[in-house]
Amino acid sequence: MKNPTKSFSWSSKSSSRSAGEDREAKRSKRSTEVVGMAQSSANTVAASGSSSNADLVSLFECPVCFDHVLPPIQQCQSGHLVCASCRPKLSCCPTCRGPLGNIRNLAMERVAMTVMFPCKYASMGCELTLSHTDKVEHEDSCDFRPYVCPCPGAVCKWGGPLENVMAHLMSAHKSITTLQGEDIVFLATDINLPGAVDWVMMQSCFGHHFMLILEKQEKYEGHPQFFAVVQIIGSRKQAENFAYS
Ligand SMILES: [Zn+2]
Ligand SMILES: [Zn+2]
Ligand SMILES: [Zn+2]
Ligand SMILES: [Zn+2]
Repeated sequence: MKNPTKSFSWSSKSSSRSAGEDREAKRSKRSTEVVGMAQSSANTVAASGSSSNADLVSLFECPVCFDHVLPPIQQCQSGHLVCASCRPKLSCCPTCRGPLGNIRNLAMERVAMTVMFPCKYASMGCELTLSHTDKVEHEDSCDFRPYVCPCPGAVCKWGGPLENVMAHLMSAHKSITTLQGEDIVFLATDINLPGAVDWVMMQSCFGHHFMLILEKQEKYEGHPQFFAVVQIIGSRKQAENFAYS
């Protein structure tokens, strides 16, 4: 027989990993609580001051990437700001073409402490505003951040919103078989051929789509090893409803 098959199955609680993500669900919960607290202090600032939070936020816009300039903040010799990720790529100030120098702007850093910045996925629907210290951590687990293609091997460079992941898989990865139902039989052909390979299929069950991946790793102590991965095509929250058993 040239096509031996490998089969395994699992029950209702099947996955704890979600598309394009690692396991950081707990962290995101914590940052949401912090967001709630910080939000109320910003409202106080906005209500008591004459300039609105939005006016202040606009002062921190990087002229190159339109993301925000966050502490530590450096300015050019004429006082223009540029963000820390754009700055190393520039040979002069993008606003005045003058030398960038090495001048810290502590006053703007102090102002940044009082400003609530929008999440960088605001244009994709995230409505949170956060202190600059919480912003980076939140963006890491924001539900609106683009998902990467869940196919193994990182060959596909697609990224987009969660709701488009299935459409992408169906148009760009047509060869992946989708099966329905809660009993899963995974068919992997040619498992004895040499080399590290992945087998991928989709399973629709429990109202969700799951990507099943069988990974072969060549020759661990002389024998090939197989790893099975189940990923829900969904958010971290949805993934929390499932577990390996
Ligand atoms: Zn920038
Ligand atoms: Zn300048
Ligand atoms: Zn967000
Ligand atoms: Zn893809």
